Amino acid sequence: MSSCFKQPDEQLLSDLKTIVGDGGWKPGNDASRYYEDPRGRFEGSGCLVLLPENTQQVSDIVKRCNESKVGIVPYGGGTGVVAGQMSISSANAIVLSLERMNQVRELLLDDEVIVAEAGCILENIHETATNHGLMFPLSMASKGSCSIGGNLATNAGGIQVVRYGNARDLCLGIEAVLPCGTIYSDLSPLRKNNTGYDLRHLLIGSEGTLGVITAATLALKPIDAETATVYCAVSSPADAFGLYKQVRKHLGNSISALELMSQFGLELVTEHFPALTKPFAENHDWYLLLEASGPLGTGDRLEVALAECFESEILLDAVVAQSKAQQDGLWDLRENTPEANRSAGAFCNSDTSVPISKVDAFIKLTTEKVKGIHPDLRLNTYGHIGDGNIHHNVLPPAGISKADFIAENPNIVEAVRMAINETTIAFGGSISAEHGIGRLKIQDLELYGGEAKLKSLRSIKAAMDPNNIMNPGAIVA
Ligand SMILES: Cc1cc2nc3c(=O)[nH]c(=O)nc-3n(C[C@H](O)[C@H](O)[C@H](O)COP(=O)(O)OP(=O)(O)OC[C@H]3O[C@@H](n4cnc5c(N)ncnc54)[C@H](O)[C@@H]3O)c2cc1C
Repeated sequence: MSSCFKQPDEQLLSDLKTIVGDGGWKPGNDASRYYEDPRGRFEGSGCLVLLPENTQQVSDIVKRCNESKVGIVPYGGGTGVVAGQMSISSANAIVLSLERMNQVRELLLDDEVIVAEAGCILENIHETATNHGLMFPLSMASKGSCSIGGNLATNAGGIQVVRYGNARDLCLGIEAVLPCGTIYSDLSPLRKNNTGYDLRHLLIGSEGTLGVITAATLALKPIDAETATVYCAVSSPADAFGLYKQVRKHLGNSISALELMSQFGLELVTEHFPALTKPFAENHDWYLLLEASGPLGTGDRLEVALAECFESEILLDAVVAQSKAQQDGLWDLRENTPEANRSAGAFCNSDTSVPISKVDAFIKLTTEKVKGIHPDLRLNTYGHIGDGNIHHNVLPPAGISKADFIAENPNIVEAVRMAINETTIAFGGSISAEHGIGRLKIQDLELYGGEAKLKSLRSIKAAMDPNNIMNPGAIVA
């Protein structure tokens, strides 16, 4: 893969530094934060980190790199978990961080849109929208670090997809620098615009391989009058889903989040974050964190729905948050789960989606298969169950460190990964529901993508980026 990145000559490096000016670049060997992997599995490298301040500078950089056929790795917040934002096998990469392009360009309140530069941190967009009486629904545990450019480049999902859709569904317009350096600008707030191929949708989810997203027009939503959050104890993922359907009869599409957790997951997060408290005195097998936002009375309607679920014995116990602090406490259990997995030595992290009707059977079969590989493996299974998006995090047996366990069982990571992948495909699912392909899942895409898709991906890449300068080695090897 190192051949993907041609070595830049001194003249090019000097020209790039001139484009961004003093303070707009960092030497590649003194920029370790850009090479970190949130899950600690990879280490990136590069020869220069560029921090452009505006779209024209991005265009000039891309033009110069294209002339020299030198590869660029776009970088947002660095929270991607599939090594898309880092060159892992060549130190020749030019890292292009959008962090200084972090301004809100426009807030069109009547159109209910915000025009934000790519480097805006997701949480800051939330704050700006809320300060103006609206909200931006895309949200995930990495919201304090990830950027909107990265969110769009990965078509991120997160916790409110069940009601509002993925990043793609919230983006009305896009500005991007294409691989030849041309600026594509379509930041209009139009909600309908069928004028030929939609470049916006091609760029969304392209993980920096077709261009650098520099700004986007994002759809904002009204803030609901009331938000009710409940942590439910259930017997199985099937019952979690049954509960959702029952509650939906009372709340319609007010249900905005639906997160599955297991008893093991709850133990793990409270062990690694001792300030967090378990919602129930008793243990149960599974839990569902459900949030509904709607008009006044939403909380009352939720209580009625929950009472009905108790009667039909789908619901075993429930804690309804009585304050914002309690809501945050329940969400902390879910949002600290990725970090708890990492601290506990998870060595396999799946990002699977299956048809929602098959979630329960999928969890049962994958658990059985993983335990069949080694009976003492521990699975922290959780996820956005309303979207059929399940994350299996597989941990070594209790009392053994990740490093020691893998040293003793050198083939286990691959065996577990393939067991989950094969089951996913057998269930008609996806091996990457929301994280993308990056560099981590290229082989999986090649294995399961199918000839028509792979051929089309390669043709699109070759047509738009003939010199293979945009994030070479990601998605399309
Ligand atoms: C704790 C934790 C929880 C997470 N939860 C979720 C979740 O619930 N749902 C979910 O979908 N993801 C989740 N993620 C993954 C990650 O946060 C998302 O993929 C996010 O969208 C990445 O944004 P970023 O700005 O950090 O991008 P980066 O990591 O910097 O980059 C990701 C990819 O996008 C490309 N890219 C970045 N910026 C641009 C740009 N401006 N133009 C073109 N390409 C660009 C990069 O080259 C790379 O390929 C989680 C990650 C962590 C660490």
